[in-house]
Amino acid sequence: MSRIGLSGLCHESGTQAPGAGAQAKPVLKRTSLRGLPGLDLFLVRLLLCCALGAWAASPALGGALVLLEAEQFAQLGGWVVDQQFMDEMGSPYLLAHGLGEPVRDAETTAQFPAPGNYRVWVRTRDWVAPWKAPGAPGRFKVLVDGKPLGTTFGTEGAEWHWQDGGTVKVGQEAKVALHDLTGFEGRCDAIVFASDSAFRPPNDRVALAAFRRQALGLPAAPEDGGKYDLVVVGGGIAGTCAALAAARLGLRVALLQDRPVLGGNSSSEVRVWLNGGINLPPYPRIGDIVAELEPRPRPHPGTLPLADSEDDQRRLALVRSEKNITLLLEQRVNGVESADGAVRAVVTQHIRTARRLRLSARWFADCTGDAAVGALAGADFDMTRQQHMGPSNLWNVQDAGRPEPFPKCECEDTNAVNMAFAATTGAAPFPRCSWAVDLRDKNFPGRQRAGSWEAKEPLSKLGVWYWESGFDRDPITEVERVRDLNFRAMYGAWDTLKNVDKLYPNYKLSWAAYIAGKRESRRLLGEVVLTGDSFRTNQVFPDACFPCTWTIDLHTPDPAFDKGQEGAEFISKASFGKYPAPYWAPYRCLYSRNISNLFMAGRDISVTHEALGPVRVMRTCGCMGEVVGMAAALCRQHDCNPRGVYELHLDELKGLMSRGVGCQTPKVVP
Ligand SMILES: Cc1cc2nc3c(=O)[nH]c(=O)nc-3n(C[C@H](O)[C@H](O)[C@H](O)COP(=O)(O)OP(=O)(O)OC[C@H]3O[C@@H](n4cnc5c(N)ncnc54)[C@H](O)[C@@H]3O)c2cc1C
Repeated sequence: MSRIGLSGLCHESGTQAPGAGAQAKPVLKRTSLRGLPGLDLFLVRLLLCCALGAWAASPALGGALVLLEAEQFAQLGGWVVDQQFMDEMGSPYLLAHGLGEPVRDAETTAQFPAPGNYRVWVRTRDWVAPWKAPGAPGRFKVLVDGKPLGTTFGTEGAEWHWQDGGTVKVGQEAKVALHDLTGFEGRCDAIVFASDSAFRPPNDRVALAAFRRQALGLPAAPEDGGKYDLVVVGGGIAGTCAALAAARLGLRVALLQDRPVLGGNSSSEVRVWLNGGINLPPYPRIGDIVAELEPRPRPHPGTLPLADSEDDQRRLALVRSEKNITLLLEQRVNGVESADGAVRAVVTQHIRTARRLRLSARWFADCTGDAAVGALAGADFDMTRQQHMGPSNLWNVQDAGRPEPFPKCECEDTNAVNMAFAATTGAAPFPRCSWAVDLRDKNFPGRQRAGSWEAKEPLSKLGVWYWESGFDRDPITEVERVRDLNFRAMYGAWDTLKNVDKLYPNYKLSWAAYIAGKRESRRLLGEVVLTGDSFRTNQVFPDACFPCTWTIDLHTPDPAFDKGQEGAEFISKASFGKYPAPYWAPYRCLYSRNISNLFMAGRDISVTHEALGPVRVMRTCGCMGEVVGMAAALCRQHDCNPRGVYELHLDELKGLMSRGVGCQTPKVVP
């Protein structure tokens, strides 16, 4: 039986070379859908298109339409591309992540099929409305040929929707700009100009996706992205190690990553440091690739930017130097084709151009952290719904009179931190944030209350790992809300320190991750599901293959700070369960029990919530990736599936584990 799991919808076709999507420069997409008789017919056709899996002829519309996708603007200015929630809300969008300082305008040029009056619709939302918080901080204007439309956007609606921008008169061409008013996380998905003032762009997810594809002139089926031995989805430490290991063993590998950098949580965009032991007996070569990705292990660099940015470049260079790897950056996998209990192909969407590619392979590795491929393919998975670990958005502050040099980001559109502010020796005022979490009468780490542990080096307590939320929220469908709660907590804390406690007059928010650092979501189920007891009792497996040294590190809301924040806690407390380390975990956690050709590595492997505690640290995830790459090579050599490696070729896997696939001399990292 075949099955198609798509979080988007219709397929597209075409002849673009696989690498082209990754290299594509932002292009203004403009479309006129002329002569539609009415919206209802339009939607019927859109839905028909979805049912048939292809777009028919251009429908006859009663007017002209121009769709501008914000992420396709020619210049992004200070806005950043946020793709994290596109499976839920329908598209990557632009975010004005200015930490309270309005960001530079994003600009593009729109071509119109005919001069005249157009009704404008802007897809946006008031991001604090879910909390019924006042003030609509994400306000922005749309400028057409330098003139602002009357509407201020981002001021209404908790949900993504089309906000009415009134009517504007344009010529054949117009300059369109997004003008941020606040620097407080305003967001714009797209703009529609409609000559028919009665036209309403669709809000329904399915109809909206078809509308976009039609309006952008994209083919109905995905373009051919090539055929590979192994497709690795997710370019965190786990996925990068899996791709490198398999490529060095001769496999033709595609590595797909939805950001412009590799490293996942350890990239300069999230800035988590690597932990976990590598190069340990009896397999001291396991971890060699991890060591190549991190030649200078650092204990706690905190949120300092420079080294992380260097690591981004090193990882990209290392992967690009491997001739067997096709690296596709800014590609989000949101579709899977499967048949007879196996994945046949993945469909990926470029986060700027929206072009889609279909990549087929014999084996796949889900290294997305969220088990995105497995979930689309119908793989068995587990997910803790309540009291799980949540995401963090790390942040820091600095003396505005002594700014640090900023790293050059790999993304060409903007720098990673989006805040090249001018040095000043004067005061750095910060506005009141009535819409943020109200912390005026609350304690929080970094607030100096007499006698509390927070009083020592208070600035170092701000924005670190325990600023974590979303413990009871769905880590897939509610993650935008969770990320936004992290923002509200950060802004509330800084407002309190600056404007209530009257501290740090020369300091300002320096950096904050807008990419959420996730800890826990779906865990794919393999033939062994590792538990906390496996660690505590030192359960021995014949297929032991990657070393775990981190404690059973689990986070829950910190009772010292949760009063008044029940259900929306944002400070965590860790417990550190002990076991005899190193503990070698089994290979059978690294492949799906019901999708025959699906490997996994990273935090989405086959463990319980408790066993996620020790396995999730990144050097350990990298070791899993190395083993997956080796096992994939054996799959090809013996024309078998991951299970076959366990059943028939385990000794050969152990042989590869003994030899390793790294280029460095072994070393021990505690
Ligand atoms: C604040 C914080 C502190 C932590 N502290 C530590 C620590 O001290 N040491 C340590 O080692 N670990 C730490 N961790 C845990 C660790 O960061 C994660 O467990 C680890 O990053 C998991 O690695 P991964 O490769 O599985 O996933 P990730 O690092 O999440 O990487 C997965 C990548 O896949 C991409 N992706 C996701 N979906 C798709 C898709 N559909 N298509 C294409 N690409 C996709 C993502 O953008 C991401 O870049 C911490 C985590 C957080 C959040």
